[in-house]
Amino acid sequence: MEEQLKVLAAMQKLDDKIGQYRVLQEVLPKQLNEIIEKVEQATIDLLAGESEKAEINKTQRSLEGEIKTHQEQIKKYGAQLSAIKTNKEYKALNSEIAYLKDKISEIESQLLALMDNETEIKSRIVECKKALVEAEANKRAKEGDLKAQIATLEEKIESTRAERNKLAVTLPVALIKRYGNMIKNKENQAVAYSRDGSCGGCGFVFRQQMRIELQLRKKIVYCENCGRILLNPIQEDTPKQD
Ligand SMILES: [Zn+2]
Repeated sequence: MEEQLKVLAAMQKLDDKIGQYRVLQEVLPKQLNEIIEKVEQATIDLLAGESEKAEINKTQRSLEGEIKTHQEQIKKYGAQLSAIKTNKEYKALNSEIAYLKDKISEIESQLLALMDNETEIKSRIVECKKALVEAEANKRAKEGDLKAQIATLEEKIESTRAERNKLAVTLPVALIKRYGNMIKNKENQAVAYSRDGSCGGCGFVFRQQMRIELQLRKKIVYCENCGRILLNPIQEDTPKQD
């Protein structure tokens, strides 16, 4: 009986390991996706910043062009002034020139605001580039390892399962079946350890009789509530497995 209990404990340890591999099968691909998505997001952010900057520069050029046009017009009007005959015409031309000068100063303040925007977007682009470099470095550092880990998990599960099955064949068939059903239906846990007089699987508090039976280890004790195989942790001694 002692041997059977030890085998059951060792089997559960292997199933715990399989459970951990299964968790990794969920977690690692998510980590991998996150790493790849970060690079994609950083690329998108950088492109958005750059296109925003290009847009600003385009507006700047067109405003500068407008200023130039106005300045040339002012020059033309200035030349015409000397040829003017009437005071009325003179006034009209002068007010036209004043209007264009106002226009120019209006555009100049627009340009100043755009320069502020440009400075801001430039520093944002610097940040985006830094983020992209970091995301790419992180990807280079981790992607291969993660992919390799993911690729070997199924194999690890298979070999651990084979190891467990090798242990299982030493047990009575009915017990193997019961064990297997609990692994399947009881959150991958067929063997539970007693914890302060209660089941480590479901928390059910043992009767005195069960505590004695657990202590004696002369038969397999099942939790009356969850049906798991119960063991006392202290006596559990399986140095061959870890
Ligand atoms: Zn229980």
